[in-house]
Amino acid sequence: MRVLVTGGSGLVGSAVRYITEHETGRFGGNNQGAEEWVFVSSAECDLRDFEATKSLFARVRPTHVLHLAARVGGLFANMQQPADFMRDNLAINDSVLQNAHDFGVEKVVSCLSTCIFPDAVDYPLTEAKVHLGPPHASNFGYAYAKRMVDVQNKAYHQQYGDMFTSVIPTNVFGPGDNYNLTSAHVIPALMHKCYLSLSPGAPPFVVAGTGRPLRQFVYSRDLARLMVWAVREYVDVEPIILSPSEHDEVSIATVATAIARTMGINAPLTFDTAKPDGQFRKPASNAKLVSLLPEFKFTPFDEALKESTEWFVQHYDKGARV
Ligand code: NAP
Ligand code: GDP
Repeated sequence: MRVLVTGGSGLVGSAVRYITEHETGRFGGNNQGAEEWVFVSSAECDLRDFEATKSLFARVRPTHVLHLAARVGGLFANMQQPADFMRDNLAINDSVLQNAHDFGVEKVVSCLSTCIFPDAVDYPLTEAKVHLGPPHASNFGYAYAKRMVDVQNKAYHQQYGDMFTSVIPTNVFGPGDNYNLTSAHVIPALMHKCYLSLSPGAPPFVVAGTGRPLRQFVYSRDLARLMVWAVREYVDVEPIILSPSEHDEVSIATVATAIARTMGINAPLTFDTAKPDGQFRKPASNAKLVSLLPEFKFTPFDEALKESTEWFVQHYDKGARV
């Protein structure tokens, strides 16, 4: 089994690399040498380029693909560049899936996101609700491109019998995130902003929006363990939500306060309520996951957030993607 991991240098890809290199067993790597995991970044192959992707598949000859590569960004980047988010992701997914088909790959596990779900739909989100209405206006370009992966998976399965499936994580965070202030998701953006505010004379730490929206976060290393499991054991074209319970939502204010405390700021925080809140909440049911894998234990959120904040502080000058 040779697994090609696209997006191998990103937040999720680096977590999969960490887990497959540092852990063993059902959710870890190795498997007595029966598996090889090959991680690629955009520097090795621009997956928007069909011919370059074909050369990559010809070189690696994967039996399985964990397809994580995507143009990814937080609320503000998605609002500013909907066309780029749509076009890049459509192109990446088309060349990865068609090449996987052409090269006879046994299984592809692609990555969707709970932010692609309809905006006006009954909660909790479930795997059956992906296409039940338009996505939130703030990220429609990314959302429609990602939804097409589910359509592509079903089309390849119906026409050729290919086992192309997808997983749907909620908001991800962890070591090695994208901390760039213009494109980061909320947790890495808040870590970076909080850290900068610690310098003498620097502007104070300000949280965008009201702080009231709720998010359901999954730690990248827990997600990586679940993805390893999905590559090996999940056999169903229908997607599966990978997340802790929908009852574990956390407010943006709680997240900001926890990050500030870890960095030594105990004063009340400032909120810039002129900035958008985005979707208020998007709770997703993990019932399907729990039914298939009842024994899986998620890392407690506070512990994972503290570990991730400490990783960022330690790596700020040493390779963090700022
Ligand atoms: P990330 O940290 O931004 O990493 C993106 C990865 O995709 C990088 O390895 C990047 O390579 C690669 N990539 C981007 N454009 C590419 C291209 N044109 N050709 C080849 N590779 C390209 O993102 P992430 O958070 O790990 O996201 C991984 C997956 O999880 C994505 O499919 C995303 O939609 C999904 N997801 C993420 C979240 C979240 O909160 N982060 C939530 C739900 C779902 P370089 O490093 O070389 O640029
Ligand atoms: P989303 O879950 O797809 O909306 O993406 P984000 O990870 O970008 O989370 C956005 C939520 O965090 C919104 O409620 C924002 O108002 C809030 N937020 C607060 N400060 C920031 C920040 O500095 N960057 C980002 N991206 N979001 C922030």
